[in-house]
Amino acid sequence: MLRVHFIGLSAALIAATLVTAAQAQTAAPPPYTTTKVEGTDNVYIFRYGGHQSMFIVTKDGVIATDPISERRPAAKTYIEEIQKITKAPIKYVIYSHLHYDHIAGGKPFKDLGATFIAHKNAKDRIVQLKPADIVVPDQTVGDKKVIKLGGTTLELIYVGRNHSDSTLVMRLPKEKIIFTVDWLPLQAVQFRGLADSYLPDLEEGMKKVLAMDWDKLIPGHPGPGGRQTGTKEDVKNDLAYLQDLSAAVKKAVDEGKSVADAQKEIKLPKYESWSNYGPFLPMNIERYYDFHNRGI
Ligand SMILES: [Zn+2]
Repeated sequence: MLRVHFIGLSAALIAATLVTAAQAQTAAPPPYTTTKVEGTDNVYIFRYGGHQSMFIVTKDGVIATDPISERRPAAKTYIEEIQKITKAPIKYVIYSHLHYDHIAGGKPFKDLGATFIAHKNAKDRIVQLKPADIVVPDQTVGDKKVIKLGGTTLELIYVGRNHSDSTLVMRLPKEKIIFTVDWLPLQAVQFRGLADSYLPDLEEGMKKVLAMDWDKLIPGHPGPGGRQTGTKEDVKNDLAYLQDLSAAVKKAVDEGKSVADAQKEIKLPKYESWSNYGPFLPMNIERYYDFHNRGI
């Protein structure tokens, strides 16, 4: 009787332990985090939901990037997180590229007196479209602009069209870090049908970024397992993926196949484990099909 009871209890305990382990594994990450980038004194990543931006703290003020506040109050939290680290003024907000999910909601930063900077193509489009809840940039970047603040140098570099026609590569030369958004994903295929992206410029841009001097990449979204930074290896893999995709689609076009057949037949098993391989590969194929079939 005692033994039976004991076994019953053990089973219950085991079951309880398993539930806890399963819950721990599937537990959602906290809604936001602020992380100091390893190997630096003053470079941080603010993540809110699935978006992230870089900010740099100096004695003379803070350089922030994307407010990531479309239809949500992330900017308020972003500012509170910065102010837990420093009371120095937030001097700049720099937009990574035009897309609203990254740049909307910057007003709380503007109210504190920050100067907003973006590529000139982003400003032109914002002025033209007047999107609600997007602060119009005060300053623009053509090919390159350098910001110096409190001993930190930040380069804002335009490497041409890629995932948009306004994407900046923000490079910290001393820290050997780059922050650039949406086109150099960590172990993920390209987003949906590559809307607003330019081919083959996207691949050329990756080659230019690989030729730059840096060690750590901060992308606009964490990768699998919540990984927040990448390396040149990730960018090499992103380029290899596009080259493999492009070659496979070109072959299908050359053989006179339809886009539907190309989508059905092309498999890139090397990248099977990447995020969004299932849903987005057919859309990535269609984008490259138009490039090879129609030159667009
Ligand atoms: Zn984007």
